Amino acid sequence: MNVLVVGGAGYIGSHCVRQLAAAGHRPVVIDNLVFGHRRAVAPGVPFYDVNLGEETAVGSVLEEERIELVMHFAAYAYVGESVHEPLKYYFNNVVATLGLLRAMRAKGVGKFVFSSTCATYGIPEKMPLVETMPQAPINPYGQTKLDVENALKALARAHGLSFAAFRYFNAAGAAEDGAIGEDHDPETHLIPLAIDAATGRRPPLQVFGTDYPTPDGTCLRDYVHVDDLSRAHIAVFGQLEKPGAALFYNLGTGTPTSVREVINAVEKVTGKKVPRTEAPRRAGDPPALYADASKARRELGWAVKFNTIESIIGTAWKWHSAHPEGFGR
Ligand code: UDP
Repeated sequence: MNVLVVGGAGYIGSHCVRQLAAAGHRPVVIDNLVFGHRRAVAPGVPFYDVNLGEETAVGSVLEEERIELVMHFAAYAYVGESVHEPLKYYFNNVVATLGLLRAMRAKGVGKFVFSSTCATYGIPEKMPLVETMPQAPINPYGQTKLDVENALKALARAHGLSFAAFRYFNAAGAAEDGAIGEDHDPETHLIPLAIDAATGRRPPLQVFGTDYPTPDGTCLRDYVHVDDLSRAHIAVFGQLEKPGAALFYNLGTGTPTSVREVINAVEKVTGKKVPRTEAPRRAGDPPALYADASKARRELGWAVKFNTIESIIGTAWKWHSAHPEGFGR
């Protein structure tokens, strides 16, 4: 299929582009390079430096490239910033996405795969999280993703749009060959920060909160490999043949891993100590978030290849040790 990957130069999008090509599809990328990296996209992949909200420009790409399905990864994703700058988040994540959906409707493109998040659940009452549990985001970032999920439901009902919304848990790791990986500016994620603390590129890691009601007092998260996430996006294609399909899937390994366990795994994989300090809790961090991803396994035949935290961190280490400056700026 001809697949438009919106945000294809970003972390998850760029891994998906490679997986699409490996699976015999034809990815086409649009990215405004605000957070994406041109070098994350292979030279042979058609690339357009376009804002997703620019309906006319996006419409031309849809038409010229004969796009059959759109995957949408482009979003602002800093939870803390979303609290302080909600307009930025609502404009980019909701309003611009509606522009993209309008362009698709105008050009008759009826299949859509959307990056959603476990942040749409807010602070869950029960764990692991199942797709049917209540969604009550506690920050504008999570709310913008939920708003788009709701818009998609309405479009499926009204116009027969077929879509899948994937609620990611903690995306981590890098391509197995070490060619692309995670490069955020600013970086806020645990694994790259722990690796950079180990190599001395950054200051000691701050462990945010050691008094959570968890076995070792630190937060539990569900780290899932970025290539495993990407494979689910392709595994869903068959389900989108049915007009009006409205599908929601959690994507996680189902294994809760604490911050201390991540640090231990980074030490094991790198053979280096992770200098660290204990710090207060970070605002807005739920104590535990992990997935029940049995729906994706059952309906999509999805299975994770990277099922230990060490195997995930092993790929991240390969990327970071070969590219300490990321893609370069
Ligand atoms: N974390 C930490 N120190 C850091 C960054 C993150 O202790 O410098 C913790 C954070 O509180 C959370 C977990 O690591 O419990 C994962 O955080 P991350 O930002 O990677 O992902 P999130 O779960 O917020 O999406």
